[in-house]
Amino acid sequence: MTTLSFEFFPTQTDEGTAKLLAVRDELAAFNPEFFSVTYGAGGSTRDRTFAIVDAIQQRGIAAAPHLSCVGDSTADLRDLLNRYKALGIQRIVTLRGDLPSGSGLASSELRYANELVEFIRKETGDHFTLEVAAYPEMHPQASNFDKDLQNFVRKVKAGADSAITQYFFNADSYFHFVDRVRAMGVDIPIIPGIMPITNYSKLARFSDSCGAEIPRWIRKQLEAYGDDSDSIVKFGEEVVTDMCRRLLDGGAPGLHFYTLNQAKPSLAVWKNLI
Ligand code: FAD
Repeated sequence: MTTLSFEFFPTQTDEGTAKLLAVRDELAAFNPEFFSVTYGAGGSTRDRTFAIVDAIQQRGIAAAPHLSCVGDSTADLRDLLNRYKALGIQRIVTLRGDLPSGSGLASSELRYANELVEFIRKETGDHFTLEVAAYPEMHPQASNFDKDLQNFVRKVKAGADSAITQYFFNADSYFHFVDRVRAMGVDIPIIPGIMPITNYSKLARFSDSCGAEIPRWIRKQLEAYGDDSDSIVKFGEEVVTDMCRRLLDGGAPGLHFYTLNQAKPSLAVWKNLI
């Protein structure tokens, strides 16, 4: 069975939250396994993430908060884990996080995601299903691909149940990553993270910062469309749908959509696939 999940970021206003819950309702009709909600490293969205997770969970489909360890004390993390447990949360997306310009990493009690996985297992046993991040095109700060793979395996050995990838636009990078970690003994599901294409300049900026490559043929076509957003959306939908089809045909166990709090772009792709 193909799993489906959607990612949101926490909203800033009541109006934004109302809109987000309407998006959630639209997406819920497609029976996702969970909705995840991002977390600002260092706790910058601690209360807002919690509030959105609470609001989603109350409407019946599982919410999965993201939780990152850099810049948060273990006391804060423990408190949050207990509050999520009390709310009935059963899944956490377990991350290191990124503080502005890397500040705080050295002074953090927990410095890498594998340490957070270990901490959550120590504190809460098997209560939570733990997702971790995977980077088919390598994490941008890793010194080389092999070391990054070893660090990924470290998170899995620490007790992760499943992984969600950074987005990519090249299905072969996903298949290569999966082959490599399978050869290293990893047997957990690795779910591709899918970024719908709707706005070229924002996508280009974000991709630069998170190390996701936009292949030249896609970049050049998107650039050629200029301000013609209808063409960008149409082309983006075709490209992303084709990639998702290849991923699923090639054995990917599901898809996780980075929705950017919008229903339409992710659903356009998903509806092409079902
Ligand atoms: P890690 O697995 O800790 O890896 C970080 C880097 O350190 C890598 O280069 C790795 O090779 C290296 N490394 C790992 N372990 C060790 C070790 N033990 N010793 C030495 N080096 C090591 N960010 C947010 O702030 N909030 C979010 O909600 C959020 N959600 C995300 C969801 C997904 C699905 C993904 C893919 C990313 C998300 N991010 C989020 C971004 C993420 O926090 C950053 O990419 C961050 O830089 C790395 O997080 P990580 O959990 O992959 O870190």
